[in-house]
Amino acid sequence: MRVLVLGAGVIGVTTAYYLAKQGHEVTVLDRESSPGVETSFANAGQISPGYASPWAAPDVPVKAVRWMLDRYGPLVVRPGLKPAMWRWMFSMLRNCTASRYAINKARMVSVAEYSRDCLRALRDETGITYDNRSQGTLQLFRKQSQLDGVGGDIEVLQQYDVPFEILDRNGCVGAEPALAAVREQIVGGLRLPDDETGDCFLFTQELEKIAAGLGVRFVYDTAIRSLEVTGGKVSQIVTDKGAFTADAYVVALGSFSPLLLRPIGIDIPVYPIKGYSLTVPIVDADCAPQSTVMDETYKIAITRLGDRIRVGGTAEVGDYKIRLTPGRRAPLERSLTDLFPKGGDLSRATFWSGLRAMTPDGPPILGPTGISNLHLNTGHGTLGWTMACGAARVVADLVSGREPEIPADELTVRRYG
Ligand SMILES: Cc1cc2nc3c(=O)[nH]c(=O)nc-3n(C[C@H](O)[C@H](O)[C@H](O)COP(=O)(O)OP(=O)(O)OC[C@H]3O[C@@H](n4cnc5c(N)ncnc54)[C@H](O)[C@@H]3O)c2cc1C
Repeated sequence: MRVLVLGAGVIGVTTAYYLAKQGHEVTVLDRESSPGVETSFANAGQISPGYASPWAAPDVPVKAVRWMLDRYGPLVVRPGLKPAMWRWMFSMLRNCTASRYAINKARMVSVAEYSRDCLRALRDETGITYDNRSQGTLQLFRKQSQLDGVGGDIEVLQQYDVPFEILDRNGCVGAEPALAAVREQIVGGLRLPDDETGDCFLFTQELEKIAAGLGVRFVYDTAIRSLEVTGGKVSQIVTDKGAFTADAYVVALGSFSPLLLRPIGIDIPVYPIKGYSLTVPIVDADCAPQSTVMDETYKIAITRLGDRIRVGGTAEVGDYKIRLTPGRRAPLERSLTDLFPKGGDLSRATFWSGLRAMTPDGPPILGPTGISNLHLNTGHGTLGWTMACGAARVVADLVSGREPEIPADELTVRRYG
């Protein structure tokens, strides 16, 4: 088949790769002039199936109030007359029950674990490198109450057979030797040895070249204006460079997916949740992290990516603007200077923001729609890098009419009724 993939972020490029591997003639459209330069550009670098959890958890409504009142807290809500935002927030609150959480978590873990396996296979097959490491992640507790409260997480990890280690202060320093300099700040940690790290942007750029080698055509600087539907099928994609046609279409437009789907009657509850990151050059490798350290106190991830440290966090519920709010830089800087004070040079850091395409329940939206030749691969939220390969493989299988290797029925848009 001729397949058009809309969007060249990590999700669109991995989808194109798997479609090409399955023998299709693939074209990818994007408004940018190269792949992976929007949300996939400077995320926190965690490939972390172990942390695959919905934000909509039973304790979140109470925690959210506390976070919003804290200057260094991880949550910011910018209220306004935005019906889609309020609808998303109410829907998320409705998902904050124990029973909904269990269902949503199971769906996310299934995609994330499958994705890690697909990524490993892709790496073996292609030899792709992207400042990647396979050294696990460490969730770091600075307060005894955080360590005491880890029981619930452990039960979930055991339920899904995710290997983990509970570490005391010395164990944390053993896993991340640079923490020795600040050992008095540490109470303990939860380590997930199977998690990985890597630069999502580098991966996307490298995989784009590999996909091009398989025959995928990438068309950049092309803004998609609309999808046109005739007789229950997408008939063409209208862009500022003219119309494009194919036998099948995959929407992988991140946070912008709902804006193009709504006019053709597909209403997906995806909303942009903004996050920020700092990329800091390493000045002393012995004082830098080895892998990802999740600073539980501020919900900030600190990741080693080659000769740089990536520090990422914050959930800002507002609009589609990616302007940099200076106040959001302070929590990232504080977390890094608290834990790795001599690792990087903050005066040369690059500050960035991106929009996570979040569903209110947590799992992404994959596969078929009510329009027979239109598929979705969007709504991966905080975990698009973690889920990219698995989600793309599932969607490629569905486009090809094959049975995916994990249950996919509950991941489609139909789950919203
Ligand atoms: C601060 C932060 C930290 C994060 N940390 C992690 C992490 O540690 N681990 C993890 O797994 N995930 C993380 N994520 C999430 C992850 O980065 C995203 O889920 C992932 O990048 C989404 O990829 P995507 O391809 O869907 O979106 P994008 O990369 O945004 O790609 C969408 C593409 O669609 C194109 N597009 C949109 N509209 C149009 C149009 N009209 N016409 C043409 N092209 C269009 C855009 O140009 C873009 O290239 C983080 C996100 C943020 C913001």
